[in-house]
Amino acid sequence: MKLLGIETSCDDTSVALVDETGATLFLETLGQETLHERYGGVVPEVASRAHAQILPSLVQKAFQETNTDISELLAIAVTRGPGLSGSLLVGVSFAKGLAFPHEIPIVPVHHVIAHLRGAFDQISDLHGKTLGLVVSGGHTHLYDVTRWPKLKLISRTVDDAAGETFDKGGKLMGLPFPGGPAIERMASVNTRSILPLTKGPIRTEDPLNFSFSGMKTAFSLKLRQTIHANAGVLSCEDQSLWADSLQTAILDHLFSRITKVIEAESPDTFLLGGGVAINRALRTRMEKLCHQKGINLLMAPPKLCGDNALSIAMIGLDSMKQGLFTPFPYRNFSVQARWDPSE
Ligand code: ATP
Ligand code: FE
Repeated sequence: MKLLGIETSCDDTSVALVDETGATLFLETLGQETLHERYGGVVPEVASRAHAQILPSLVQKAFQETNTDISELLAIAVTRGPGLSGSLLVGVSFAKGLAFPHEIPIVPVHHVIAHLRGAFDQISDLHGKTLGLVVSGGHTHLYDVTRWPKLKLISRTVDDAAGETFDKGGKLMGLPFPGGPAIERMASVNTRSILPLTKGPIRTEDPLNFSFSGMKTAFSLKLRQTIHANAGVLSCEDQSLWADSLQTAILDHLFSRITKVIEAESPDTFLLGGGVAINRALRTRMEKLCHQKGINLLMAPPKLCGDNALSIAMIGLDSMKQGLFTPFPYRNFSVQARWDPSE
């Protein structure tokens, strides 16, 4: 038996097939960066249309390349939320349409829980008290995940997410969308001392919470002054300096909070997932911190940091083993664009 995973919550169309042991038979993720690039951000209407065009042929490709017949499907796992309503609706409607004639069970999956699922192979890998940080385009949220798959929120951003800060910074610097990978690339070639982007430590009402909006404003104001002083031009060297300065400010702030939470909670295991988790500077600092504190660190491998259907399929498999699924005829099952994972 096989399990099909479908992910369409934002601007990546992803399909995966796994067998009943969890072995990957197929995984393909098609991003839509080129479609959204000229708008400088994801346009929901454009994203849902692109999913509707791409998804059927991607599923067909998965079946063909793995010689799979629909009768072999144990279940279909699909992202139910959170995300863009139109994008989610394409995945969920397609899953229902495919499942209905064959009465195949559907597993509705939480996108944020899936980002953390990418960090480990088996649930038995989670030892003792476990924390999980999701750093992505819409989330900078730290959870106690000891009772996996139940999540208890410990701290979160009170404004922008870390990924959003990378993206906005990249846009201000005129770098390609999304800003995260472009900033990481530019930052890696900087040779000058970085610029301070905040006057002092960032304060939030709860000292464990994250906040990126002040840093973003400081970055924007200082960058504009520099560009203005240089007759509207930002040299390649300057781009590297500003990219490194922003990346360092984002990571310094993340780690000021992560360190406090680790000291307060003393976890045995720490999970890291989400699109920003692919950043090498972040991974290196995380490894160093967890090594110092004697914590077992599980980070999503690069191919599972961003949105992907393999993590969706793995949650589908876990859920089927526990008998948790939506049976035919899928009554009251639709998308949930806003969905708190600790519910
Ligand atoms: P969410 O998961 O919160 O709903 P999302 O699905 O849009 O949001 P992801 O696809 O998980 O977010 O991650 C995308 C984010 O990851 C973008 O903000 C992008 O800039 C960022 N990102 C990708 N690569 C890197 C990198 N190398 N360094 C920093 N950030 C990165
Ligand atoms: Fe995501």
